[in-house]
Amino acid sequence: MRTIESLGQLRGRTVIVRCDLNVPLADGVITDDGRIRASLTTIRELREAGAKIVLISHLGRPQGEPEERFSLRPVSVRMGELLGAPVSFVEETVGEAATAAVSALGEGDVVLLENLRFNAGETSKDDDARRAFAQRLADLGDAFVSDGFGVVHRRQASVTDLAQLLPSAAGRLVAGELEVLRRLTEEAERPYAVVLGGSKVSDKLGVISHLIERVDTLLIGGGMVFTFLAAQGHGVAASLLEQDQLDTVRGYLETAEQRGVRIVLPTDIVVAEAFAADAAHEVVPADAIESSAFGAAGIGLDIGPDSAAAFAQVIAESKTVFWNGPMGVFEMDAFAGGTRAVARALTETSGFTVVGGGDSAAAVRALGFADDQFGHISTGGGASLEFLEGKTLPGLEVLA
Ligand code: ADP
Ligand code: MG
Repeated sequence: MRTIESLGQLRGRTVIVRCDLNVPLADGVITDDGRIRASLTTIRELREAGAKIVLISHLGRPQGEPEERFSLRPVSVRMGELLGAPVSFVEETVGEAATAAVSALGEGDVVLLENLRFNAGETSKDDDARRAFAQRLADLGDAFVSDGFGVVHRRQASVTDLAQLLPSAAGRLVAGELEVLRRLTEEAERPYAVVLGGSKVSDKLGVISHLIERVDTLLIGGGMVFTFLAAQGHGVAASLLEQDQLDTVRGYLETAEQRGVRIVLPTDIVVAEAFAADAAHEVVPADAIESSAFGAAGIGLDIGPDSAAAFAQVIAESKTVFWNGPMGVFEMDAFAGGTRAVARALTETSGFTVVGGGDSAAAVRALGFADDQFGHISTGGGASLEFLEGKTLPGLEVLA
């Protein structure tokens, strides 16, 4: 992996930095600035080296044209506060205004260009369209630093094409993420436990089948629990169930058995009358979900307290723990207990802990935990999962 050193002297040169500044916004206010903070290391280093810095990023999923609610302007303001230096903003990504703003930069100055995805070329499936947009970006600078870890699994103009048009290197955030993920894939200290949750099994098939060959214990929570319970023959009432994944899940249970990998499923479940924050709810054994007060209408929305304690115990005894996917619908306080317990157990264990996944990272912060209580919180959900699946990530391949 080429690092910033490979770019040589940067004083006076214009360096384009692809960041992942895709922060959550509510009415134009940033609700979690974690991704802005994560990008500062590289930017500070480039400023000290005397580079002229052009930041590019996407925010949200605009469909190839400008949409005010996805503007990066609020990010430039917050970035300036965190950096302790002005970060100017241009209302377009490429064009006359962008070119003028970039030529006005002095050594150490920083400009943020408007949302990449306001341009159809950024995510186009058409190679020529993507390449043409990447060329317009490349024309703005002398070198490229790829530091948006959250997008390195995407084949997009500002990720893969741009890296091929300019001298390019991985930024510090990308390099740091990779170091952690390598530690998980190549030299994980044992016992190694993986906690998986979230909404769907089908989202996590690749990572489950890959990890089942490599870990000592797999703890399963979240919405995917119910497909596992159903695969064992238990009724799950109105809980999230992926009927078409039952055979796959049965296969996982068999593989785990053959390999001596322990799959720990919850023994109790918080079942609710409805999918709502104020819904009536009760704790029932995991094999008796249909016997709850809500009968066939009951929805499992969290792992129960006994399960949370059992999961915490496994985590406490592990030397390496990777966690992806909330244990329940943590967005509603009544169903956040399992996620809170797992997060706390991760902060208390002496082992090396990694949290990956957009919602998982948001969950630990929303529940009041600090980033530094964990070994590492990945800024890239999809990217970290794909890496752990053993896939080649296109955005890294171009920096090899
Ligand atoms: P990540 O982004 O960390 O990979 P996912 O996107 O897979 O996580 O899943 C997060 C979502 O899973 C959360 O919004 C949470 O509400 C939901 N979830 C967790 N448990 C359940 C459940 N029992 N039923 C329905 N949704 C659930
Ligand atoms: Mg998610």
